[in-house]
Amino acid sequence: MPAEKIVANHLAPGIYPVRAFSDNYIWLLTNGQTAAVVDPGQSAPVLDTLKRHNLKLVSILLTHHHQDHVGGVSDLVAHSGAQVFGPATEVLPVCDTLLQEDDTLEDASLGFRLTVLDVPGHTAGHIAYAGTFEGDSVLFCGDTLFAAGCGRLFEGTPAQMDASMGKLAALPPQTRVYCAHEYTLSNMRWARAVEPDNEVLARWQETAQKTRDQDEPTLPSTIAQELACNPFMRVRQPTVAQAAAQWAQRSLASPVEVFAALREWKNNFR
Ligand code: ZN
Ligand code: FE
Repeated sequence: MPAEKIVANHLAPGIYPVRAFSDNYIWLLTNGQTAAVVDPGQSAPVLDTLKRHNLKLVSILLTHHHQDHVGGVSDLVAHSGAQVFGPATEVLPVCDTLLQEDDTLEDASLGFRLTVLDVPGHTAGHIAYAGTFEGDSVLFCGDTLFAAGCGRLFEGTPAQMDASMGKLAALPPQTRVYCAHEYTLSNMRWARAVEPDNEVLARWQETAQKTRDQDEPTLPSTIAQELACNPFMRVRQPTVAQAAAQWAQRSLASPVEVFAALREWKNNFR
C-alpha cells in the first residue's frame, strides 16, 4: 500500500489499494476505524492491512463471480463477520444482500453512498458501484472498465458491453475510477495503436509509465480521462471507427460493430 497516509497511528480516511495476486487491486475504503473492501480475491493481504492499521471490516462489496474477485470472501467473513453485498444474478461463495440496478448502499459512518449499475458484458450479472465517498464521486467497476481498456467478453455481447460503457460514460467526469486490475500500460500500448494522434493519451501514457517505474498504482483513473483516451468509450469517434475498420479490413456499420472489432483487435494485440 504505497499510497497510505498515517495520522496519529490511524490510517487517514480514504480509499487504498490492497494488492493481490500479480495485478489485482482490492480497494479498501476506511474512515480510520471501520473499513469496506471491494472484490477481495484473497483474504491474506486484506487481513494483514486490517491488522496493521487496527481496522474493523464491516462490508464486502462484490462486482462479479470470478475467483480473483471473490476468493477471499469466506475467510474474511469468518474473521470479521462483515456483511457481503453482491450481484443478484451471479453464483457467489457468500452473499447477504443481493443487489440489482438502482439499489443503494449507504454507510454514513464510513462515508460512502453508492448506487448499483448493471453492467453486463464481462460476466452476465456484473454490477458496478457508483456514488460518493467523503463527498467525492467514485466508481468501483470490477472488470468492466479498465484504464484505457475494458474487460474481456466472457459471458456477454459487444452490444451489452457497449451499453454498459455508456452507463459509465454518463457519470460525472470527475468520477474517480477504481478498476480491479493494473492493466494500464498494456492497454495504452494498444490504445495508441488505435489513436496514434491522441495527445491526451500520449501524455497520460508518459505519466503512467513513470508511475509504474516507481511501482505505484496508475489508478484511480477518471471518467474524463477514459472519455478522452479509452477506445472502448470512443467507438462513436470517427478516428476510432476508421482505425477499427482498417484493422478489420471491412466496413463497420454501427458503433456496436466498431466495439466488437476493437475487442477482437485488443484480444490479438501483442
Ligand atoms: Zn473477472
Ligand atoms: Fe479480474
